[in-house]
Amino acid sequence: MPFCIKCGRELLPNAKFCHRCGTTVKPAVKPTPVTPPVMPPPYKSPIAETYYEMVLKPAAEEKLAGPRVKHREAPTKPFEERAR
Ligand SMILES: [Zn+2]
Repeated sequence: MPFCIKCGRELLPNAKFCHRCGTTVKPAVKPTPVTPPVMPPPYKSPIAETYYEMVLKPAAEEKLAGPRVKHREAPTKPFEERAR
């Protein structure tokens, strides 16, 4: 049952206006709700967790603790070049 938006009076389903306060009743068409895109439930993979524990967490801790190594040595040969 629709209700008057102004006085809260219960209205007839096909009422054009509230018979109590006279407020125009919007047609009983459901306003299209802005539905957020259906997202898949977040999947927490154990691999990702391990990756976080092994790579991201130490890196974050290192960042917090301050850079221990001032200058990181670049690998002598990048992987791509080695593959050639
Ligand atoms: Zn009303």
